[in-house]
Amino acid sequence: MKYLPEKELIFGQTLEELEAFAVESGQPKFRAKQLTEWLYKKRVQTWDEMSNLPAKWREKLEEHFILQSANPLFNQESQDVSNKLLMKLGDNSMIETVLIRAPMEGVGQKSSRITVCISTQVGCAYGCKFCASGLMGWRRDLLVGEIVAQLMQVCRIEDGRTERAKPEIPSFDNIVVMGMGEPLANYDNLMKALHIVNADWGLKFGARRITVSTSGLVPQIQKLAEEPIQFRLAISLHGATNHVRTKIMPVNRKYPLEELIPAAKAFAGKHGRMLTLEYILIEEVNDSLDQATALVDIAQKLHAHVNLIPYNSVDGLDWKRPSQMRQNRFGDILKKAKISYTIRREKGHDIDAACGQLRLKEESPENLDGERLFEN
Ligand code: SAH
Ligand code: SF4
Repeated sequence: MKYLPEKELIFGQTLEELEAFAVESGQPKFRAKQLTEWLYKKRVQTWDEMSNLPAKWREKLEEHFILQSANPLFNQESQDVSNKLLMKLGDNSMIETVLIRAPMEGVGQKSSRITVCISTQVGCAYGCKFCASGLMGWRRDLLVGEIVAQLMQVCRIEDGRTERAKPEIPSFDNIVVMGMGEPLANYDNLMKALHIVNADWGLKFGARRITVSTSGLVPQIQKLAEEPIQFRLAISLHGATNHVRTKIMPVNRKYPLEELIPAAKAFAGKHGRMLTLEYILIEEVNDSLDQATALVDIAQKLHAHVNLIPYNSVDGLDWKRPSQMRQNRFGDILKKAKISYTIRREKGHDIDAACGQLRLKEESPENLDGERLFEN
């Protein structure tokens, strides 16, 4: 499925593209830079506020471009410190963007970190058995402008929180591409979006503070290692042997551990930086001590940090989060082996912060008809 909006999305344009547009529409090239200042530094919400742009050109811009391409339907604020935005796109599709205002607990992390989690697709074709996004199948890839627009909406909330002038760089600390969808299956749009987010004329957000999470698409991991901008990588492992991983992540049939681990190692070697392994703990599925030992082995090979995530229950799925005792028992094996790890005490659990879950509640079951890559 493809979505072709009636106008282009302004947040999907690079400076070069906007310069070309300026020249085509009879303006000097520098107008494009003025425009990006309004969009990314002053972060205004309407064309009318762009007061140093000629009125005629503002009309042209409005004719050609959509300024608001992701509109929050509601902003659910949890008892802890997360916000979950359900966003409506131009074709009425819904996606989620989550703002986590607390630290993930762990060694040496400061206390008021703000992490924004963005989506890259509507639904997901990869069908991981524990995941609400996987349940609904894949509908479509997000456009570049829709990926960037999620961050602009978060800026709007954060900018509105203080009286002081807007900082040039957004006031959140980290971006994680871990919302709905498989980011590396929408590779080109994601790369262009992250280029805009990283560019000096754009959000000027450091690549080292951007983490892309993947279920393990080996060719795209290899491609990502070659990118000029070096983002961080997280791999959703969730099973430390092929047997267990294939049971819950069908993608493992296509890219089993003996292919995934070398690709991840090559990525880490190239970047000289620590990878993260994401591991959801699901009772009696992947939380045995044997899995912990196998996980130690993989983490050592990759010099990776392990993020243990207690499973968040999903409506329609029977699985359970292990007891605190079982979680700790699993963690202790990593601790003994001196693996760097954290157990995420889910922030936003009360608002269904795991990906896809809020949206799933808005959908009726007969709508779970997106495309799937793997047969069950
Ligand atoms: N497709 C990519 C990125 C999005 S999925 C990937 O798989 O890495 C992002 C993450 O959502 C998963 O790694 C997992 O950390 C989390 N997640 C999904 N379902 C969950 C659940 N039921 N409980 C806890 N975390 C979940
Ligand atoms: Fe897709 Fe990631 Fe969910 Fe798997 S965990 S279904 S890859 S979004």
